[in-house]
Amino acid sequence: MKKLIVAKNTGFCFGVRRTVQTAENLLKKYGVLYSIGDIVHNPAVMRDLESKGLRVVKSAQEVSEGPFIVRSHGIGRYTMDNLKKKGVEIYDATCPFLKKIHSLIKKLDRKKYLIIIVGDENHPEVIAIKEYGNNVCIVQAAGSFTFHNQYSKAAVIGQTTLSFNDYFKTARSIINNTDFEKIVLYNTICRITDERQDESVAISKIADMVFVLGGKNSSNTTKLYKNCLRFNKNTWHIESIKELKDISLKGIQSVGLLSGTSTPDGFIYAVKKYMHKKGYREVQYNGQRRSGKTS
Ligand code: SF4
Repeated sequence: MKKLIVAKNTGFCFGVRRTVQTAENLLKKYGVLYSIGDIVHNPAVMRDLESKGLRVVKSAQEVSEGPFIVRSHGIGRYTMDNLKKKGVEIYDATCPFLKKIHSLIKKLDRKKYLIIIVGDENHPEVIAIKEYGNNVCIVQAAGSFTFHNQYSKAAVIGQTTLSFNDYFKTARSIINNTDFEKIVLYNTICRITDERQDESVAISKIADMVFVLGGKNSSNTTKLYKNCLRFNKNTWHIESIKELKDISLKGIQSVGLLSGTSTPDGFIYAVKKYMHKKGYREVQYNGQRRSGKTS
């Protein structure tokens, strides 16, 4: 029997679903809506929202009127202040997990910690959270570090979409290579993306081929894809149905199916339907989470 092994966690995560839903509601009400950057890293979803009136701009300077939506990644506090000063009507759809990190950074800043963010300095989430403290620096997961030695204590915070392993590896390296009197580690990794990383490893080990569904501009989908590729060379990052048509399924008995957190259910459904027509029966992956995540 040919199988389509579907991950337990697919489709929008809670934060993205909430933001897209808010945008849909606002567009219905006002017919126009502004956002800085794409509110979701998925071209098809963005095309749909733009056709309903969403206007994506690059900075607060380009927004002179509202309504304005803050996307799930959040925006920096200076950008927020700038919009407020202009009297723009703001709807904050920042993911609550990110809001908690913003408050944490403000608190640590008041307590005079050097705040070290492990993550990608170009990712909108990191660009935003950096603005919530005055003493913040960013290190890439595999980077090297030099910190100003006027700080006696440091707090290490991870970008929510990192894997636990990458975060702890970098945190351990910070502990081993610096001489702060005190270092506090905060587990800010989003459980939802971490679970998907776990599933990606397990599924890519058991399937003949793997499809990772989501935008090519989505960082968490790309991470999933790269993760699967480590264990299964026959892994494909699929953004549109037409890409599937070029993939030969000859001799393939099992295909794993995963998605990023910005991939809409409609697209996942369309891929499943395509695979059903090719004779693959859907089974849900039901494995256990791995333990011992810090090694
Ligand atoms: S991945 Fe996690 S932190 Fe990011 S938007 Fe989704 S729920 Fe929020």
